[in-house]
Amino acid sequence: MARRRQIYEGKAKVLFEGPEPGTLVQYFKDDATAFNNKKKGTITGKGVLNNRISEYLMIKLGEIGIPTHFVRRLNMREQLVREVEIIPLEVVVRNISAGSLAQRFGLSEGTPLPRSIVEYYFKSDALGDPMVAEEHITAFGWATTQDIDELMSMSLRVNDFLTGLFLGVGIRLVDFKLEFGRLYNGDDMQIVLADEISPDNCRLWDLKTGEKMDKDRFRRDLGNVEDAYQEVARRLGILPEGGPRDLKGPEMMQ
Ligand code: 5GP
Repeated sequence: MARRRQIYEGKAKVLFEGPEPGTLVQYFKDDATAFNNKKKGTITGKGVLNNRISEYLMIKLGEIGIPTHFVRRLNMREQLVREVEIIPLEVVVRNISAGSLAQRFGLSEGTPLPRSIVEYYFKSDALGDPMVAEEHITAFGWATTQDIDELMSMSLRVNDFLTGLFLGVGIRLVDFKLEFGRLYNGDDMQIVLADEISPDNCRLWDLKTGEKMDKDRFRRDLGNVEDAYQEVARRLGILPEGGPRDLKGPEMMQ
């Protein structure tokens, strides 16, 4: 069997060369890391669940006109995506104080913010993803002012839509991280949503109990991590029929 060429291996995903030029296969691993790689572990079935959850959310966002890199899901752990040039920024949107924001400003976790806050971080494991201002982004040439306006307005639209979608299934969207890429078509360039949207990069709290249903369960050793991810998928109505325990290796695509 022909082995596909691996393009990139990240902490939670692997990218392989796709079947046609301009496409990639995004493979979701069960590996989990936190605190800039200092904590490592495995969450059985996480890759299967995140593949499904991210597929569902990217399709829904596409339906409201947000351009994304997602093409289609290929199997339990893989999806076909468009090859984009990743903008080296993590865009974080926050609705309720938690995590690094709560720490930075001495806020107690769970305080609703006066309005949604959008922050930018420079994507660099070596530097621990430092927070950056627009000044750094334009001065270092990571994005133009016009690109930043687009990142901001797309991120806020994603936030409005996902906040409502999750509220509908009894989940509070506390905060999340997005990544974007540039998609080239001849001389045209379009900024599209890339990477994934899943409990790995969102904070999701149960509306009634406040219970955490995201990667903070792993980061903070709260236990039942897989169950929490599974519950998110169940509430969204997309739990894989065979359950998330896909112990097979990557399936070769046609
Ligand atoms: P914080 O800055 O509070 O640690 O994270 C804010 C939000 O962005 C959380 O939902 C968190 O999951 C997400 N986030 C921030 N940085 C990263 C990252 O490097 N990887 C992942 N998976 N999520 C991140």
